[in-house]
Order: sequence, then structure tokens, then C-alpha cells
Amino acid sequence: MHRVAGTTVWKKFSAFLVLSSSLISGLLTVPLWAAELRLSAPPRLGAAVMLEVRGVSEQAQVTGRWQQQELPFTADHRALLPLDMEAPVGVATLEVTIKEPGRVVERLQGSYTVAPRIYKEEPITLPKAKVEPDPEVLARIERESRAITATYERRGGRFGYDAGFQQPVQGRFSGVFGSRRVLNGKPRKPHNGVDIAAPQDTPVVAAAAGVVALVGVDYFFTGNTLVLDHGHGVVTLYAHLASMAVQEGQWVAAGQVVGAVGMSGRATGPHLHWGALVRQQRVDPLMLPGVGASDHSR
Ligand SMILES: [Zn+2]
Repeated sequence: MHRVAGTTVWKKFSAFLVLSSSLISGLLTVPLWAAELRLSAPPRLGAAVMLEVRGVSEQAQVTGRWQQQELPFTADHRALLPLDMEAPVGVATLEVTIKEPGRVVERLQGSYTVAPRIYKEEPITLPKAKVEPDPEVLARIERESRAITATYERRGGRFGYDAGFQQPVQGRFSGVFGSRRVLNGKPRKPHNGVDIAAPQDTPVVAAAAGVVALVGVDYFFTGNTLVLDHGHGVVTLYAHLASMAVQEGQWVAAGQVVGAVGMSGRATGPHLHWGALVRQQRVDPLMLPGVGASDHSR
């Protein structure tokens, strides 16, 4: 008798559960599960912020667009949102689509105000031979420049930036990101990176895990030059190195020594020029999520 009664109760209970879930899917237009968009910082010019889509399952399919560009996500539903140093000001838009197995597709949107930013002007004086090279040197410069920019076009790959970034060497900031460089009185391209002055041969570590995309030996401008590819078009560049401790194609861990501070190429003293690009958008390395030294770059 007790067993029979128990079974009856259970059957009623399961019938109630089925009814409840059919009511939910039939009546509710707003999903009961609440996914949420979290940003590591407000988006701003010349910075990349980390988007985290929270409240979704491991099985969820998360896709999105940032400024009308397809957004690659890491396995734990994170993505870097870049704004180039010279991106248009105004409103930046984010759209995220979440497909949970067996659930209604959820769409989330965000819009963010992008304020103008004033970059410093930086006069530099260098010997004429270093500023106006001969035609044969120009050909070399173009070759080296192409080798570097080719790494900026890389997409896909194994990602290594999901844990954020770290500053590759500590030291005095001797050159700020985005500064308008005036070289021997002539305006040049804005400074695409940050300069960190440190003693010759100070170890330089990888800002995040990644594959070595370029080992450039003694380039005219950037000297010994490394580019690390962190996946999804996220790259960091290390220039003027005294030595390089890695090979092209090698996977490096975050914090692994990749080289040493020097003054190879066009440099007036030992320092690391550190650059960062997210799908060809030039961003301030000091404002990368996890670096936490953003105040020094202004
Ligand atoms: Zn520099």
C-alpha cells in the first residue's frame, strides 16, 4: 500500500514539473536565466577591455559583434573589445547572442560613449642618418616593416590571453602611448606602444601566453624585435632587445623570459618598446586588462 501511494505521489509531481516547463516556454518572452555582460573597464580610445559573458553554461554558444565586427570568444566566454587610438568618437555598440541547449536564443546589447582623447606631443632629436635613410636602407626598412605588419594580420590560433596580461618589464615610462612624435621638427606617426626604460640586459617576459610569431634580428628601427601571437588577432611586440631567448613557432607561457632589454635599432638608451594590437587596432599596452598601470600612460 505504501509503495503504491508513493508511486502515485511521484507521478503527480513529475506531471506538475512537465506542465511547469511547458508553461514557461510557452508564456514567457523574457528568459528566466539571466546572462550578463561584464566589462573590465569602460571602453575608451586606444584601449582594449575584456568582456565576460556571465550566467551562461559551459555548453552555451556565445557569439557577438563589437563595432559591427565579428567577435572571437575564448572557451569561457570572454572577448577583448578594442578601440584603435584613432577610432571615431561617439557611441560604440556591442551585440551578444547566447544559444543555450534547449532554450530560447537570448540577445544582449550594450552601447558605450567613447570620448575624445588628447595625446601628448613629443619632440625627438636624432642624427640625420637615422632619420633620413639612404634608398638601399629604405628597401630594408620596408622589408622589415612588412614582416612585422604580417603578424598583425594573423587570426585564429591558440588563445593565451584569457587570464589577462602583465607588464613585461618594470621601469620608468620614458615614452607614452599615442604621443604625436615630432622628429627633428617633422611630424611622424603616433607612438604605437609604450617605452619602459630599464638597465641593459634586464629580463623581458611574455605579457601573456602565446606563440612566437616573429623573431626579427637587428631591424633598422626596432632592433631585435619579437612579436607574440596570443590568438584571435591579439599580438604584443617587444623592440630594441639586447637578446632574444625564443624561436619562431615556439609556445611561451605568460611570464616566461623571452629576451632582455637593450638599445638595438633606433634607440637613445636601453628601454623596452612594448606594443599591443587587437585585430590591427592599436591599443595602449598599459591599459590591457590585468596590467594595472594605466595611470602611468597619461
Ligand atoms: Zn617606443
